[in-house]
Amino acid sequence: MKSIVVGNWKMNPATMREAKTLFEATRKAAERAKNVNLIVAPPAIFLRELKQRYKGSRISFALQNAHFEMGGAYTGEISLAQGDDSGASHVIIGHAERRGMGETDNDIRKKVAAALALKMTPILCVGEKERTQNAEHFKLVREQLQAGFADVPVSQVGRVIVTYEPLWTIGKEKTMSPRDMHEMAIFIRKTVVDLRGEGGMKVKILYGGSVDGTNAGAMLTQGDVCGFLVGRASSNALQLSALLQAIENAS
Ligand code: PEP
Repeated sequence: MKSIVVGNWKMNPATMREAKTLFEATRKAAERAKNVNLIVAPPAIFLRELKQRYKGSRISFALQNAHFEMGGAYTGEISLAQGDDSGASHVIIGHAERRGMGETDNDIRKKVAAALALKMTPILCVGEKERTQNAEHFKLVREQLQAGFADVPVSQVGRVIVTYEPLWTIGKEKTMSPRDMHEMAIFIRKTVVDLRGEGGMKVKILYGGSVDGTNAGAMLTQGDVCGFLVGRASSNALQLSALLQAIENAS
């Protein structure tokens, strides 16, 4: 099975011109990476134009966030329907940075269900802010999964992509160990099965947090993940190539 890489450009770059340059480098790297399905999440304002210019099939597009309502008086927000119309097939939901800005489990519950209703693929992010001695992170991740999957029809549980992305590994120098990720992947799968039935076995699990070409291979082969959600390494052409090459080598 092909690995999944979600490239989260966050609030970068500043101009459409730079976005086109970055996307062109991304496109070339993706063409060489035959074992990777790349999902690019640019700032929403750049999405439609990048999608329209792209003629290949190896890259899909994602929103970094969206409102759960399809329209209405929500100044500054973007709806899933607008993202869908712009060419996004996926949407990142509950990213740690959005949770940090006040997004609640209840918002996330509605967003996941709304995305599925539009036939978009939700990329549900879960993970703790920090690790304590008494393994509270398992309880927290369970609560996040419970909320995220609460309104998902049982028949659609397998369509959700879950990303385990603890805040303490995002934007840092080093990542967590593949062994710890393996343990968390088993926990996530078991929890989704407990909560929502056998469809939970089909849920794809990604890891996010300081992934690059130096650590991706070990995480892929030992971490029990299908791929990665990547911040910095997705908006740097050289780092992206190195990352995709590492995945190719490990595949
Ligand atoms: C992210 O933004 O989701 C992320 C994982 O960032 P980074 O890869 O830079 O740690």
